[in-house]
Amino acid sequence: MTSDTLLRAENVWRQFGRHEALRGLNLAVPQGSAYALIGANGAGKTTTIKVLMNLIGPTRGTATVLGVDSQQLSPQILAQIGYVSESQVLPGRLTVSEYIEYLRPFYPSWDRELESSIRSRMQLPPERRISQLSHGMRLALGLTCALPYRPKLLILDEPFSGLDPLVREELMEGLLPLMGELTLFIASQELDEIESVATHIGFLHAGKMLLEEPLDELSGRLREVRVTLERPAVVPERMPKEWLQARAFGNVLTFVDSHFSEDNLEERLRLLLGPVRQIDTQTLPLNTVFKTLARAARAGAVL
Ligand code: ATP
Repeated sequence: MTSDTLLRAENVWRQFGRHEALRGLNLAVPQGSAYALIGANGAGKTTTIKVLMNLIGPTRGTATVLGVDSQQLSPQILAQIGYVSESQVLPGRLTVSEYIEYLRPFYPSWDRELESSIRSRMQLPPERRISQLSHGMRLALGLTCALPYRPKLLILDEPFSGLDPLVREELMEGLLPLMGELTLFIASQELDEIESVATHIGFLHAGKMLLEEPLDELSGRLREVRVTLERPAVVPERMPKEWLQARAFGNVLTFVDSHFSEDNLEERLRLLLGPVRQIDTQTLPLNTVFKTLARAARAGAVL
């Protein structure tokens, strides 16, 4: 294993009864990256995080965090990891302040100044009992408790679903940049939020990693291509397997090329489609990338 891989899964399987939630999952999160794990509902994102954090064990395969087998994580290793999830169990009887005071001594690197800065941004009522917090406030509390010790690795499972737009912005634009050298691993469906920070994308489908690569490479190779022909367009019966979602309308054929290259583009298109009047290409926002990948994965296409 290379020392700069902070999270790794190797051929991880996880079964729940007869259902296989993870089916030979491989994953590698490089140090310093902001890695977004994306995938449809039920793809296995939360199960992946639970296995990595040893909240559940794998049926087989290995997961490592900061170079240590997940099933052997010591308190010293855990003190370098921040973990926030919707389903986290928090002590309902304590107030916000009591809980933060309770946590501080567990983390030698706890930074009181950073804590106050986070608390002022999150605006949580200090004297309110945790059991009386709203869903979003509980998430905000989870974040408030996971950041002040400056974890090396921050793992967020669906952190945005309960946060209001201002708190989301405070988190992504205000807090994360304060964190210094941080590796971020984030599972979320909120692709617009992720797009602004992600450096790497892992696309999970039915318990398998179908694609894992730097976001700039993915955006470079996935392009929407719009070809205007000299005559009415039809979707060719035999088209390159990298062409996804091809559709024809009037003289225009549109498709997503999953391995786009400028090399001899016009000539390649002319050979397949006939005389070409114009070619327009555009990169896709992460939201559209996700929908394209999800449709292609369902159809068993080439990613
Ligand atoms: P979502 O985006 O909807 O939160 P996810 O990608 O996080 O989904 P998981 O929660 O990891 O998906 O679930 C993966 C699969 O495993 C689903 O089919 C789910 O029903 C199943 N599963 C998860 N936890 C359990 C459990 N405790 N018992 C039985 N099945 C489970």
